[in-house]
Amino acid sequence: MAELNAASMRDELHKIPELGFEEFKTSDYVANKLENLGIEFVRGVGGTGVLGIIRGAEPGPVMLLRADMDALPFKNPDGSIERVHACGHDGHTAMLLAAASRLVGKIRRGTLKLLFQPAEETLRGALCVIDSGVIDDVDIALGLHVRPIQDIPAGTCCAAVQHVSSIFVKAHFTGRTAHASRPHLGVNVAEAAALFTNAVCAMKLNPNLSWSCKVTGIDAMSSAPNIIPDKAVVMIDARAQTNALMDEMLAKLEAAAKGAAAAVGAEGSIEVMGKVIPAAEYDDDLVEEVRTSILEVLGPDKLAPNCATGGEDFHFFKKHKPSIKAAYFGVGAGCAPGLHSRDMHFDSKWLQNGVDVLVDLTLKKLG
Ligand SMILES: [Zn+2]
Ligand SMILES: [Zn+2]
Repeated sequence: MAELNAASMRDELHKIPELGFEEFKTSDYVANKLENLGIEFVRGVGGTGVLGIIRGAEPGPVMLLRADMDALPFKNPDGSIERVHACGHDGHTAMLLAAASRLVGKIRRGTLKLLFQPAEETLRGALCVIDSGVIDDVDIALGLHVRPIQDIPAGTCCAAVQHVSSIFVKAHFTGRTAHASRPHLGVNVAEAAALFTNAVCAMKLNPNLSWSCKVTGIDAMSSAPNIIPDKAVVMIDARAQTNALMDEMLAKLEAAAKGAAAAVGAEGSIEVMGKVIPAAEYDDDLVEEVRTSILEVLGPDKLAPNCATGGEDFHFFKKHKPSIKAAYFGVGAGCAPGLHSRDMHFDSKWLQNGVDVLVDLTLKKLG
């Protein structure tokens, strides 16, 4: 079968945007292409995911190439939801299919796993894939993402996207109600919430690493303005460049909640909302190989500096199996006005760069 074209597949996939764990048409599309290519595949991986497998005749590492497939929901004025490929995952699926069409028949050693992952935007897709056991035998994992104009120029690639660790945290405070005219009989959690907020704003962490910790909501309202409130919740958005820094931040948040509560005689605790999204932890040698591939395949003027934004559930793979050598590169596609904008657009022609790097690196490892 002839090589598949990433640009035209992206344009087709763009017309069938589906939300996480609902990628039915998208996974049909992927399965159909893999079948036509004669590539063995499994459906229903982590829900709606698809796993293509190409086995080499000689022993060697198991290498995983990962694309995500889901779109994003945007609310219409009438309350209905419109699904839009506003993060470029249609492009990722297209790049991996195009790479597969060039790799079929060329894998000599080891095993190549082509993972079309569901539900990245919910940050649960990778965890479901892990539960399916697909990651257990993986030695090398490579991911990629189209980058917006804010990150790197269209037509370039960067060897590493330095995703940060991120999490939402709720601080809970419990006090005692009383008539506001007799505040000494109550324990006012609005005061604990205010002290905690100040402690969060005064947090100090290593300034050589990037991090941010913001109060994004305070609810300390009692049922009437003349009642001392006894329940308060403060919402936090926390981000840290490394997983160790995130651990330190969470410990400081807990100490701040307990300390702020103790200062007014209340009880304080923190609740981590879901699983902490791990920061990128890459294998330096593999990132260097990605950089070399970009230089060799695309040319020295096409190598962009590494960029650092957002979070990615791809990093749960290494958290699950720390021996995995991981890398994740950026494909400058000129996405504008920016990722997650409802009208995000880019020229599909730039996807070819991502395909070329994927193929080059895979053949160096398994060819
Ligand atoms: Zn996204
Ligand atoms: Zn994305």
